[in-house]
Amino acid sequence: VVSTTPVLEAREVSVHFGGVRAVEGVTLRLEPGLIHGIIGPNGSGKSTLIGAITRLTPLTRGQLLFDGEPYQGIRPSAMAGLGVARTFQTVRLLPDLNVRDNIQLGADAEASAKTRPRPGWYQRLRPSVSPAVADAIRRTGLEGWEDYYPSELSYGTQRRVEIARAISMNPRLLLLDEPTAGMNQSERAEISRLLRDLRDEGLCQLLVEHDVQMMLDTCDYVFAMNFGELIAEGTPADVVQNPLVQEAYLGR
Ligand code: ADP
Ligand code: MG
Repeated sequence: VVSTTPVLEAREVSVHFGGVRAVEGVTLRLEPGLIHGIIGPNGSGKSTLIGAITRLTPLTRGQLLFDGEPYQGIRPSAMAGLGVARTFQTVRLLPDLNVRDNIQLGADAEASAKTRPRPGWYQRLRPSVSPAVADAIRRTGLEGWEDYYPSELSYGTQRRVEIARAISMNPRLLLLDEPTAGMNQSERAEISRLLRDLRDEGLCQLLVEHDVQMMLDTCDYVFAMNFGELIAEGTPADVVQNPLVQEAYLGR
């Protein structure tokens, strides 16, 4: 048995909102070079778990470790410096910035998290397009779209810009909350291909995904949640067959 240090480990993590147990006692490990999935019905705690991992949502109980080191004391703005990037459930691009500048925001977030700059320093010091941005544009297949504005792009391409912005932080862990919601089949296939390419370059990912086919096509390892708790984990094929998972989807 080969044992590696997981990129991220959650130990008995709970997040309660008043009486609502949004996440309850979740323990999981995210391994290098794998795409991990989270499935579960609406309201089962998937987004709250991502919020807890990215420090936007305080833990009620439990421990979070990155590369084996506890990190739950650090600020959300420091997460980029740690190497954790995310995309949100809804598209969050700045409408007045073109594709290149939206992606540059990710690289700037990483730089500022690492160096604690005084305001305005990077306008003076950074090159006009940093290498991380050019690299993110290439890896997400966005060459040719750099000067377009978000409103001029298809939904699928907007999602790719968000992923490029996260990639430009040069992360070790990428968290994606329903990146293919609202996409057609060919846009989904395109995102699946992109995530698998990033996985093949070694990037650890955690993907919240509703579409069973997308999950089967994309993920190496899947966690299933219901009512805030993990109810199953394993290969995608095993998890969809799990009776508890079938009941969670059909039984309410
Ligand atoms: P999912 O992403 O799986 O659909 P969420 O994590 O968004 O589920 O929500 C899990 C539960 O926590 C739901 O019952 C939701 O209403 C509740 N919840 C989420 N965020 C908050 C919040 N900020 N305040 C109160 N309740 C919340
Ligand atoms: Mg959600």
